[in-house]
Amino acid sequence: MHWEVIRAGADNWSYLLGDPLTHAAAVVDPLNAEEILARLRQGRWNLVAIFLTHGHPDHTGGCPRLLEATRATVWSHPPDGVTGARALSDGSEIEVGSLQVKVLHTPGHTAGSACYLVEDKFITGDTVFLAGAGNCLFGGNVDDLYQSFREKILPLDPGLGLCPGHDYAENNLCFALSLEPGSDVIQAKLSEARKAAAEGGVPASTLAEERRYNPFFRFAEAALRSALARSFPSLDLSDPAACFAAIRVLRNSW
Ligand SMILES: [Zn+2]
Repeated sequence: MHWEVIRAGADNWSYLLGDPLTHAAAVVDPLNAEEILARLRQGRWNLVAIFLTHGHPDHTGGCPRLLEATRATVWSHPPDGVTGARALSDGSEIEVGSLQVKVLHTPGHTAGSACYLVEDKFITGDTVFLAGAGNCLFGGNVDDLYQSFREKILPLDPGLGLCPGHDYAENNLCFALSLEPGSDVIQAKLSEARKAAAEGGVPASTLAEERRYNPFFRFAEAALRSALARSFPSLDLSDPAACFAAIRVLRNSW
């Protein structure tokens, strides 16, 4: 699979994936349409699909221009989307040439948030970030986000590479470190993320790594629970959904 990361705005990432056999391509969460069109021309890619992880404008802003310039179909999971988008359903697979893109409905950041699986990539929009999770402040629901993590994301292959919608790694890792100040793993990843940012690169992560530093994967760990108990003395630490929601509350004001 051909794979490109396209940075746009302050910290958005769009993704271009292509099938080298047929030159069919797709983009996920287009923002800078002119840059995407230039990359398509450069690689002689035929854009057949635009996948949206959710309907927030910083993930859909490039759609009108791409639809004007190509014959691509826009896909999103209801109720999120843009005018003219076709509706996806959980578990469905869309072909991009010989590539299969699998859809996971992962509500929480928004009601129609979706993640995509293609080969070894897990494209998460604003549902999962490196060391973080999406906020639930703009049409979201934290109980849904917890269920998405528990039922859809935690059971996935830990070797999948995380491809989030924003570069929030440094801030998220600082937050993670505030909860687990003694963690060498978080400290090492923070150094790695700072180095990647300084070089204009993309910090890499896998789901296996997320389990070692992402508080939203670690809500049941003893270290996290004691940090939560300090901030929320009456929190029921035996309730994983309540712990997950408490981490979200702390992160909102970080
Ligand atoms: Zn969003």
